[in-house]
Amino acid sequence: MQNVLVTGGAGYIGSHACKALKAAGYNPVTFDSFVTGWRQAVKFGPVEEGDLLDRARLDEVFARYQPVAVMHFAALSLVGEAMKLPGKYWRNNVLGSLTLIEAACAAGVDKFVFSSTCATYGEHDNVVLDETTAQEPLNAYGASKRAIEDILRDFEASDGLNHVIFRYFNVAGADPDGEVGEFHRPETHLIPLMLDAIDGKRDALTVFGTDYDTPDGTCIRDYVHVCDLVDAHVLGLKWLEDGKGSRVFNLGTGSGFSVREVIDQSRAVTNREVPYTEGPRRAGDATKLVSGSTRAVEELGWTPERSKMHTMIEDAWKWHQTGHYDE
Ligand code: UDP
Repeated sequence: MQNVLVTGGAGYIGSHACKALKAAGYNPVTFDSFVTGWRQAVKFGPVEEGDLLDRARLDEVFARYQPVAVMHFAALSLVGEAMKLPGKYWRNNVLGSLTLIEAACAAGVDKFVFSSTCATYGEHDNVVLDETTAQEPLNAYGASKRAIEDILRDFEASDGLNHVIFRYFNVAGADPDGEVGEFHRPETHLIPLMLDAIDGKRDALTVFGTDYDTPDGTCIRDYVHVCDLVDAHVLGLKWLEDGKGSRVFNLGTGSGFSVREVIDQSRAVTNREVPYTEGPRRAGDATKLVSGSTRAVEELGWTPERSKMHTMIEDAWKWHQTGHYDE
């Protein structure tokens, strides 16, 4: 079986990716610092603990497993924190990724799949964001991811590192088998916070801003099911194996939902009231982030079949009620 090195394999998206890789016949090797990841989320292959800034440790892991490719999920990803502590984001995300990329190239790896973000686009008035839209990030999180994209392009030129960059929109839902799911500490994301508020595990949800220039005044986001998202990664790996070269793909559905619409759908799915209050805007939030998502569908043959809002909330609700990791 071929090894694929999965950084951040103990996190939300990385753990789902490990499950998808195993199902596709690969051996996913998790590399994780366990700063934000969960040991119980590593279920589908071996694990190596380490920090991306530790080049010697990376060299050891590459020598031991000789992976055919790297899938790089490990990153800090909280916009609010990035606004307050930009240095932490530049150091961990950019220097960590640079160290990983250099180690991969030194080990002769020439296939690299990278988790980027729609936060690299920033604010574009009422434009659907496609892969050619200018990248003007509003925060250090988006800026750090854009910088890593630039690094990958340079290492393609110097070392032949073929790469697929996926720019995620809002990832939601959980493995419908309940083996892994979304579990962040602290939690900052809309859907898990809302589900916690619904069953009284925390106080009411605060809607961040009701004066945006959108039909109901709340921010609009494009939500994609985590299982669809990781399926695209397996397709991205096959794309590189087929020698199709480096490419950028958005991963979203092209449909936008406002915060109020997500609340309404959660009420419908759970049949429970959603306790919420209205608060001020959160720094660093764009008004509307909706994907022009045809490229992944047309070129990769991606079918985001679980990414209906009610399915994502149903899967998240099921995981919320039955699955969790011990803190
Ligand atoms: N949001 C909110 N209250 C919260 C958390 C999020 O109103 O407690 C809003 C946030 O402003 C954004 C949307 O929900 O418009 C999705 O936020 P999330 O943090 O889930 O993802 P992001 O868009 O920041 O990646």
